[in-house]
Amino acid sequence: MKSRSPLGRLRPDYFINSVYDIDAGWLKNKGIHRLIVDVDNTIVARDVIMPDALLQEWVVNLQNSGIELVIVSNNWSARVKQIAKELDLQLLAPAAKPLGAAFKRAIVMLGSNRGETAIIGDQLFTDVLGGNGAGIKTILSVPVSAVDLIHTKMLRVLEKFFLKRLSKKVLVDRKWQDVGARK
Ligand SMILES: [Mg+2]
Repeated sequence: MKSRSPLGRLRPDYFINSVYDIDAGWLKNKGIHRLIVDVDNTIVARDVIMPDALLQEWVVNLQNSGIELVIVSNNWSARVKQIAKELDLQLLAPAAKPLGAAFKRAIVMLGSNRGETAIIGDQLFTDVLGGNGAGIKTILSVPVSAVDLIHTKMLRVLEKFFLKRLSKKVLVDRKWQDVGARK
């Protein structure tokens, strides 16, 4: 059962350094068979217009192992559409994360099994907050790039503040590190 406390709503179930830390075995081990994937700074940097071979391979390997994927982005630019098309994945955008509507639609697109669904994203206030609200598992990734939109930059400051309070993990050299002492 997910915590309903304000801080608990921001707590990711898992921390990863990159989507490439995750494969089908890792997901299935945690009961995850359906994945909602954020785009910007989760699978590509904001200035990337085409997915590279490594990303294509990551998607295909997951699909070949029976993991269902859908892309959910707050960004509805032609660039995001192009990336979804190149990856041959369904796209739900603009999603207005963390609001619940897009999560509900994505869960339906993925077969309506919330318990088997997770979101992977790089932002606490959109991906994690929304995913926790929707009752699915949440995976927070280190952003692919330090380049963010201005409003995201402001949210990053708040993110840092909350991460300190809800986790032992801190970002050092763009990697999660466990500081150990914090409860
Ligand atoms: Mg993002």
